[in-house]
Amino acid sequence: MKKENELCGARSPLDRLWELTGAAAPRVTLRIFSAGSCRHPEWVTIRGGSLRSVRIPALFACIGHPVLGPVLFDTGYSERFFAETDPFPARLYRMVTPVEFDPGDSAARRLAAAGFDPASIRRVVVSHFHADHVAGLRDFPKAEFLYEREALDSMRRLRGIGAVKRGFLPGLLPEDFDARARPFAPESRIEVPEGLLPGFPFRRVTDVLGDGSLLAVDLPGHAYGQIGLLLRTERGPALLCADAAWSEAAYRENRPPSALAGIIMPDRRAYADSFRALRALHESFPELTIVASHCPEAERRYASGQVCP
Ligand SMILES: [Zn+2]
Repeated sequence: MKKENELCGARSPLDRLWELTGAAAPRVTLRIFSAGSCRHPEWVTIRGGSLRSVRIPALFACIGHPVLGPVLFDTGYSERFFAETDPFPARLYRMVTPVEFDPGDSAARRLAAAGFDPASIRRVVVSHFHADHVAGLRDFPKAEFLYEREALDSMRRLRGIGAVKRGFLPGLLPEDFDARARPFAPESRIEVPEGLLPGFPFRRVTDVLGDGSLLAVDLPGHAYGQIGLLLRTERGPALLCADAAWSEAAYRENRPPSALAGIIMPDRRAYADSFRALRALHESFPELTIVASHCPEAERRYASGQVCP
């Protein structure tokens, strides 16, 4: 086992990114869980997919930081989702996206079962504010919320059915959300010099915690201000890519979602760029483990709550 860990922890060219932060960026652990799922015809989620309805898990991550403790990346669905989508027009969301959820599926319950007290969670990084990523936020009363400012500002400009159409249910945010909100600060941006890292598609990263441990990358298009999270585990680098692709097969085989899925996207051109960036990362850095929030393969492989990859 030790040998395997040593092998996987071999130096990656991506380490240069962490050197850029100027901090002795600590390595973290990564655990993936699922918090509910929905169903869609496969062809909506991936080009060339079949007509059959497939289960699409809502994954979230628990990142173990050696000093700051557990940091969540998104939260999946929760019971609150059903209360919020009971009245119209929000009910349309549930009609278009049939959600399967048992009480034990919430992020808080999953974490408790794995030995993490939800009240001990101090930080949740939010990839974007779609309901299937933020429905569990109210279950973490002590957490601060870290995110790209535009991700929320763009949603709060929407009202009524316009917000529902974009997947935003404001009632999912805790009453005291603003008091606990920590949008990324300008000084957390780090420019990636041209030529530093051949094949790396981003010109900037964001040092989310200020110690170089979690680097956000911009993956807009599916939602404004969507981010992914690059992290370095003992076993190698990983990218939590949120909804920039809905499965590993999609970016591996260059099969983006159908035009129908584009209806919910505010910026399809940006989505195409983000999807291309994922493909570039996958091809240039084969040692990078990429986890998409709704990937059935990732769920099978990782969502046991064990340390991965
Ligand atoms: Zn999603």
